[in-house]
Amino acid sequence: MSKSFIEARNIILENSHVLNSESVSLEDLGGRVIATDINAPLDLPRWDNSEMDGFAVRHADCHLLATLQITDYIPAGATATGITVRPGTAVKIMTGAPIPAGCDAIVPIENTIVKADLVTLNQAVELNDYIRFKGSDIGIGETIIPAKTVLRPAEINLLASFSCPQVPVIRRPIVAILSTGDELVAPGSKLNHGQVIDSNSYSLAVAVKEVGAIPQVLGIAHDNHSRLQEKIAIGLEADVLITSAGVSAGDRDLVRELLADAGVEQLFWKINIKPGGPTAFGCKGDTLVFSLPGNPVSSMIAFDQLVRPALLKMVGRNDILRSTLQATVKGTLVNETAKTRFLRVRVEQTSAGLVAESAGDQNTGIVRTMVKANALAILVPEQKKLKAGELVNVQFIG
Ligand code: AMP
Ligand code: MG
Repeated sequence: MSKSFIEARNIILENSHVLNSESVSLEDLGGRVIATDINAPLDLPRWDNSEMDGFAVRHADCHLLATLQITDYIPAGATATGITVRPGTAVKIMTGAPIPAGCDAIVPIENTIVKADLVTLNQAVELNDYIRFKGSDIGIGETIIPAKTVLRPAEINLLASFSCPQVPVIRRPIVAILSTGDELVAPGSKLNHGQVIDSNSYSLAVAVKEVGAIPQVLGIAHDNHSRLQEKIAIGLEADVLITSAGVSAGDRDLVRELLADAGVEQLFWKINIKPGGPTAFGCKGDTLVFSLPGNPVSSMIAFDQLVRPALLKMVGRNDILRSTLQATVKGTLVNETAKTRFLRVRVEQTSAGLVAESAGDQNTGIVRTMVKANALAILVPEQKKLKAGELVNVQFIG
C-alpha cells in the first residue's frame, strides 16, 4: 500500500532528529545553526565612547559661541584614563574613543571652528549628545541569539564582538550518495551505446550542500550484489544514505533487497506522488536511508520534497518546509493521476500577484522542464485540472 505524500513525509520527519553540537571557529560559522542560547558575556559597547569625531566637553560650558581651551587628544584605540575635561576646556576625541572624566556631551567637529588650541561652538549642545553609553546596544546577560538561529553576517558580527573564538553549532549531517545501475558511467568517460551518464550524483550532492549538509559521493555501483553491498556498507556509516535508481519493480532493482540484508528497516516503499512514487525510506540505527528513483527529474523532486526537510531538521532548522504560496494559473495545469502531483512551473510576480504557468512537457523524462522551472505547483489527488484564473499552491525551488 503506498503512503500518501503527507503520511510519508511525517514518517520521515518523525525519524529525523536534530544532531548534536560541535564547536566551530568564527570564520566557519556562515549558515550554521547555533546550538544554545547565546547570552551576552559583556556589555556592548564595552565603555562609554564617542559617536563622532569632535570634542568632549562639559555641557554646562556650552552656550552658543563659547570658546574652550583644547587640552588633550584621545584618538581611537587610546585610553581616556587620566584625562579629565575641566571647566572651560575641551578634549579632542575621535569616533569610538572612550569618554574622558568630566565629559557629558560630544560636539561634532563640523559644529565648531578650531583656531590653534581654541575651539568655538557654533551650534547648540544638548546633554549627552553623541555619547554611546556602555551597554546601550546590548546589555551583559541578555539572550541576544536564541538557540536554533541560523547564523547570518549580523549574528556572526555580534559573536565576534563578544570575542568568542569558538561557537557551539549543530553538527552538519554527512550524506552519502550512491548511484546504482548497470547502465551508468561517470561524466567524462567513454560512452558506449546504451550507457547513461551518472548525473544524479552531482545534482544530489549540490542539493545536499545547499541545505548545509556534507555530501559524500560514493560514485556508481553496478547492479551486482558485491559492489552494491560494499558501497551500501560504506554509506550506512554516514548520517544519511541516499541511493538513486533500482527501486522500481525492474529485474535488477536490487537496492531494497540489499538494504534489508544490510539491516535497514524499511518504513515505507511507494508514495502516492508523481514524480517520485517508487521512493523507499528506512533506518538503520541513527542512519536514515532514502532510496530515490533513478530518473533525474524524479530524484530531484523527491529530494526536494522528502529528503530536504529531513536534512534541515537534522541541522537544527525550524523552517524545514518550503513556504507554500498561492498563484493564479496561466494556461491550464493538469493532474492526470490520482496522486499528489508536482508540476514544474514558472511563477512570475505580476501587478496582479503571482502567476504560475507550466514550464513545459511534464513527462518525468524531460529534464529541460526542470531547468526551465523556478517553482513546483502542488496538486492534490482531487485536483484534476486547474483552469486559467484558478488558484494553485506553489513553492519556489532553489
Ligand atoms: P531506474 O530507477 O533504475 O528504473 O532508472 C530510471 C531511469 O533513470 C533510467 O533511464 C536510468 O538510466 C536513469 N538513471 C538511473 N540512475 C541515474 C543516474 N545516476 N543519473 C542519471 N540517470 C539515471
Ligand atoms: Mg535501473
